[in-house]
Amino acid sequence: MNAKTAFSSLPLDPAQLSNLESLEYHEMTPIQAKALPLILERKDVIAQAKTGSGKTAAFGLGILHNLNPKLFAIQAMVLCPTRELADQVAKSLRQLARHLDNIKIITLCGGTPMGPQIGSLEHGAHIIVGTPGRLHDHLYRETLDLRRLNTLVLDEADRMIDMGFYDEVINIVQQCPERRQTLLFSATYTEDVRKQSSAFLRNPVEVKVEAQH
Ligand code: ADP
Ligand code: MG
Repeated sequence: MNAKTAFSSLPLDPAQLSNLESLEYHEMTPIQAKALPLILERKDVIAQAKTGSGKTAAFGLGILHNLNPKLFAIQAMVLCPTRELADQVAKSLRQLARHLDNIKIITLCGGTPMGPQIGSLEHGAHIIVGTPGRLHDHLYRETLDLRRLNTLVLDEADRMIDMGFYDEVINIVQQCPERRQTLLFSATYTEDVRKQSSAFLRNPVEVKVEAQH
C-alpha cells in the first residue's frame, strides 16, 4: 500500500487502526491524507474538498486522538449547519469511537425541547455536535460548560455562512477557550468564507483537494 495513504503511517492508537479496518476504511482518502498529519500535530486547519470525500473522519480521528476518555467534560465541539448533518456526524463519531469505553456524544439541535438536552448535559459528555442556534441558546443559559474544550470544528462552514448563522457562530467561538485547535471544513472555500473565518483560526494551514474534471 502507498505509505502516504496508509492509516498506519499516522500516530494513531493500534486499537483505532483495527477499528478503521473493521469499518472497511483501508486507506486514507485524499483529503484525509493531506489533513490528518496536520490535524494530529494540533495545527489549525482549513480543509476543502467536495461532499463525500471523507471530511468527517478527518476531524473525527483528530478529536478522538486528543480525547481523554477519563475526563468527563466537553473536550470537543462540532458545529454543523443542519440537524441532519449533526446526526450524521454524531453517528460517524460513535463508529470511530467504538474501541473506546464510554465516550458520550450529545447532539444539540433546535426543534427538540431544551429540557431533555439540559438533563443529558448535566450527566456530562465528552463531545458535542450541534447547530449554531441551539448551541448559542445553551451558552446563553449557561447550560453548556466549554472550559475544558480543546478542539472546535466548523463543519460545512460555507453552508453555515450561506444560511446566515455567522453571528451565532462568531458568538459561540468567542465563548470557547482561546487555547484550542480550530478546524474548518468546507466543500467550497470562497472569499466570503476566508474573510469571515480568519478571525477565529490561528495561523491556519490550508489543504485542498481539487475536484476531478
Ligand atoms: P464529506 O464530509 O466529505 O461529505 P463523509 O465524511 O460524510 O464525507 O464521508 C463520505 C463516506 O465515505 C462515508 O460513508 C464514510 O463512511 C466514507 N469514508 C470516509 N473515509 C473513508 C475511508 N478512508 N475509506 C473508506 N470509506 C471512507
Ligand atoms: Mg461532511
